[in-house]
Amino acid sequence: MFEYTNGEMCAEDVALSVIAAEVGTPAYVYSCGAFESRFHEFETALAGSNYLICYAMKANSNQAVLQLLAGLGAGFDAVSGGEVARAVAAGVQGKRIVFSGVGKSRDELSRALDAGVCQFNVESEAELAILNEIACSKGRVAPIAIRVNPNIDAGTHSKISTGKADNKFGIPISRVREVYQNAACLDGVRIEGLDMHIGSQLTDLAPYRQAFNTAGDLVRMLRGDGHAIDRLDLGGGLGIDYQGDADATPTAAEYCALVRQCTAELGCEIVIEPGRYISGHSGILLTEVIIVKEGESRTFVVVDAAMNDLLRPAMYGAFHRIEPVIAPQDGATLMPCDIVGPVCESSDTFAMQRQMPQVDVGQLLVIQGAGAYGAVMASEYNTRPLVPEVLVRGSRFAVIRHRPSIDDIIARDRIPSWL
Ligand SMILES: *Cc1c(COP(=O)(O)O)cnc(C)c1O
Repeated sequence: MFEYTNGEMCAEDVALSVIAAEVGTPAYVYSCGAFESRFHEFETALAGSNYLICYAMKANSNQAVLQLLAGLGAGFDAVSGGEVARAVAAGVQGKRIVFSGVGKSRDELSRALDAGVCQFNVESEAELAILNEIACSKGRVAPIAIRVNPNIDAGTHSKISTGKADNKFGIPISRVREVYQNAACLDGVRIEGLDMHIGSQLTDLAPYRQAFNTAGDLVRMLRGDGHAIDRLDLGGGLGIDYQGDADATPTAAEYCALVRQCTAELGCEIVIEPGRYISGHSGILLTEVIIVKEGESRTFVVVDAAMNDLLRPAMYGAFHRIEPVIAPQDGATLMPCDIVGPVCESSDTFAMQRQMPQVDVGQLLVIQGAGAYGAVMASEYNTRPLVPEVLVRGSRFAVIRHRPSIDDIIARDRIPSWL
């Protein structure tokens, strides 16, 4: 969806230079068509089974994105009260929202109950007790699944691995049976399913096979204990190819085939929670080169985007392809450069020794694969205004989150009268 047309990179039918001229840089640019086609990959692959695709909204929770996906029939996985509120504000019904998260506050649980979310993914015995108490006090019954930690190594980056015994997520598999027995005795909760989520950016299906088979075994065991396990939530985490080698990562079709194979006999409603796979390649970060600087040993290309706009390289050492908006000549000579932001931290580096064609001041660059965990993680560190977001459909585009002015930022602070 972000490709060269007549020598210039476009988002659908809009040249990125047009967006840069109108909105300024840095800016995130998203493609409606990309969101739609990624969502449809799951839909097509699960057609005919009983399923709900709950988009993990933490990957990209702009209201316009949520409304676009809701219009396609998506459900949503929220991990905070704020995200539940965002989904509700986008017009999503509670029965299409599952609520996950290892530290839900009383207030968040209470509001989510009021919103009528269809499933609380309970991550601890303490949460179970509090949820029960709140529901009872309201004369309500909370639909729950217990999130099990299956102690499986997802083989992904340690900061986004969630299914190992030493991760903070879920209830240890050894305790699951007992926790279900306890939950069954509570008047304020109703057991509806089982939940797991083993990590993010998984590029191998083997850990999934192991996890799904474990889930199947648990469903059979819990049913044997007399619990109604009608819904199986398998979480999200399917990885995307950041390098530009699409064959290196499994497709949604392959992932869903595995889901179907491992869950066919169970007769459960299947919930999956893809985030990154739907939004990652649906957006780019558009940036302009401010300065090209010859260091002692290398060339630094300083761009106007920084770690506060896109944190992934600094936080996870993540790789993003970086391409010029104006296509380089065929056979252009490449030279290695470090592409860095202006923030006062050495970790503010998007790429080290990256082979790039000639890069000049004022030139526009595209940081690919930035639609997930990009804008949502942005901050105003260094008093850099929150990066705006733009959505494109065909030849139309609109700003879906505006860039605040420096005055707006300063005006948010308050000076106490006693100072
Ligand atoms: C983050 C998260 C997801 C989505 O992960 P992706 O890698 O973006 O697909 C799904 N479920 C839960 C509970 C999560 O925390």
